[in-house]
Amino acid sequence: MADAATAGKSGKVVIRNIGLLLSGDIDRPILDADTIVVRDGLIVGIGREADLDTDEPDTLIDARQTCVAPGLIDSHVHPVFGDWTPRQNQLGWIDSTMNGGVTTMISAGEVHLPGRPKDIVGLKALAITAQRAFDNFRPGGVKVLAGAPVIEKGMVESDFKELAEAGVGLLGEIGLGSVKGGTEAATMVKWARQHGIQSTIHTGGPSIPGSGLIDKDVVLEADADIIGHINGGHTSLSEQHVCELCEKSSRAIEIVHNGNEKIAIAAAQAALQLKCPHRVILGTDGPAGSGVQPLGILRMVALLSSLGNIPAELVFCFATGNTARIRNLNCGLIEAGRAADFVFMDRAQHTAGRTLLESVQLGDIPGVGMVMIDGIVRCGRSRNTPPATEIPVVVGAH
Ligand SMILES: [Zn+2]
Repeated sequence: MADAATAGKSGKVVIRNIGLLLSGDIDRPILDADTIVVRDGLIVGIGREADLDTDEPDTLIDARQTCVAPGLIDSHVHPVFGDWTPRQNQLGWIDSTMNGGVTTMISAGEVHLPGRPKDIVGLKALAITAQRAFDNFRPGGVKVLAGAPVIEKGMVESDFKELAEAGVGLLGEIGLGSVKGGTEAATMVKWARQHGIQSTIHTGGPSIPGSGLIDKDVVLEADADIIGHINGGHTSLSEQHVCELCEKSSRAIEIVHNGNEKIAIAAAQAALQLKCPHRVILGTDGPAGSGVQPLGILRMVALLSSLGNIPAELVFCFATGNTARIRNLNCGLIEAGRAADFVFMDRAQHTAGRTLLESVQLGDIPGVGMVMIDGIVRCGRSRNTPPATEIPVVVGAH
């Protein structure tokens, strides 16, 4: 399955009879449309079936009135190589997460590699190797954007230039290496930004023995593009300091599963009160001490919607279009020209919610009925979510 993931084109795909189409766009989260047309992995048409060219598809899918949303994006993972994590010694965690609706993952550093090099030549070599390896090998078809070096003392501007020219577009969490001071971090963040490399900073208490505290003053001074796990990974700053970060910084507010849940809700609500919901993005921060969470993003959506009292269709945007825009990804939004990465969901069997959105607002996670990446079906009924009431069917393929 993994081998097939990068090969082959989808041809023409028609998805009809969609009951609810979530756009990923926080300004307009629900689209008035029942059909999507895909050609060779990209969305080419969205609208009413009668208005679109649906003739002679290579694959025809009847969504059976279920919900279609952009594939979920996990903004914060720690992959190593292939579909294996040494952190909990688990195989198949990425494919398992795809069964939780995730189609893109972003590395916050390949920090769990046994014997990870910390010298500058070594950390650059690892980043380039990780970027290449995941570009060439996509477990379950999932797009793993990896190659996120953990910056260390002694790096100079030419190191960032060299990384960028080699195809590295991300920094691992600042604070996991020897650079822990605000001034030093700010200098390197600027170098990274000049060369088109996006940065994330660890926020909060140490995650595991060997990592350190990054407080709000360091986060503000470093000014990284993403305030990584603003609700702690695991230990959070105080609610007052987290709200201060939301207010004083204009950078992305990343909320993770493996953090403090109370502060997760506080951070999301602070963003809404500050009228900047577009800044909120979601991650798991897995694999980690808390394990691997194949349903971590769906659980965050249900948590923020139910206990945070935020409409479910908005929270889905935190996990899709917001992340895509902040991270310049060609997925995460239902728009012509974007990647045909979709998750098909329905209310879980026997939830108290009468609709998918209501069930999420009541705190239940949805059932995934199908996942598509680049227009290719990667799984049918999820092996991990509670069973969806209705699932889409492939009615024709040739
Ligand atoms: Zn961290």
